[in-house]
Amino acid sequence: MKTIILDGKVLAQQIEKELALRVQRIKERNNGKTPILATILVGDDPASATYVRMKGNACQRVGMESLKIVLPQTSTTDELLNEIAQLNANPDISGILLQHPVPSQIDERCCFEKIDITKDVDGVTALGFGRMAMNELAYGSATPAGIMRLLRHYQIPIEGKSAVVGRSPILGKPIAMMLLNANATVTICHSKTQNLPDIISRADIVVGAVGRPEFIKGAWIKEGAVVVDAGYHPGKVGDVELSAAIPKCAAYTPVPGGVGPMTIATLIAQTVEAAEKSL
Ligand code: NAP
Repeated sequence: MKTIILDGKVLAQQIEKELALRVQRIKERNNGKTPILATILVGDDPASATYVRMKGNACQRVGMESLKIVLPQTSTTDELLNEIAQLNANPDISGILLQHPVPSQIDERCCFEKIDITKDVDGVTALGFGRMAMNELAYGSATPAGIMRLLRHYQIPIEGKSAVVGRSPILGKPIAMMLLNANATVTICHSKTQNLPDIISRADIVVGAVGRPEFIKGAWIKEGAVVVDAGYHPGKVGDVELSAAIPKCAAYTPVPGGVGPMTIATLIAQTVEAAEKSL
């Protein structure tokens, strides 16, 4: 059995090439104006600053603009809501990304909900989530939507397969709905789940999203499973102990170069789509 590497980096590059053409067409139809992705970074978390910078760089690569808004660590919910309201009202802005997590004094859910549904290109609003879950048109949460695109690109069978996922609002819950809509049988796990190794050992598809380095052990992975690792930690390791899992996998996402590039490509693709819809 040949193990398939689910190469998110290569697929993201292909997607960006297509997006560059679409951005060019938007400019031609819109008096030379490009779509703009507004990114909001609150505070000074270095990892978040890196993610926002990477998203801005991706905008540049496809010929699009990004508007970077940086708010201090001490910002209040009202201050952030005010910024989002201004971006909602600005017709030049096609999409809004509020980098997660925000400092703890801010009501993150309340701020996500403020994002206009037509600009919710990161798929963070409850309305967007609900529509996606009901299989209606919506921008999916970028990381899970990127994972689904990667699985489809590599023609990974999903229908009838058992999948294990986490339950965070931006990753676990939305990918649970996406896999369910693709007819997988989904088990959602979390910190109170009992017998996690046992549950994972029965899964055909494992989406590792725990936020702890190599938490999911290679020994738990079923022979022939597909492993998607959303984590990224110092030492270039993810949330799955990939070195031990790879010999058993039918397919896996490398760390780095798997889920990360697909998240960014999906965010940019959804921003371009939002711009096209507003023409
Ligand atoms: P999160 O919000 O911190 O959620 C972590 C999930 O893991 C929660 O559902 C939590 O359960 C569960 N968990 C924690 N300890 C556990 C345990 N001992 N047993 C079972 N489940 C446990 O994290 P997230 O935002 O989903 O991110 C997850 C990972 O994906 C992180 O490594 C993050 O860096 C990565 N990520 C990557 C990208 C990308 O673009 N590559 C994007 C987003 C996230 P509870 O719900 O009970 O707390």
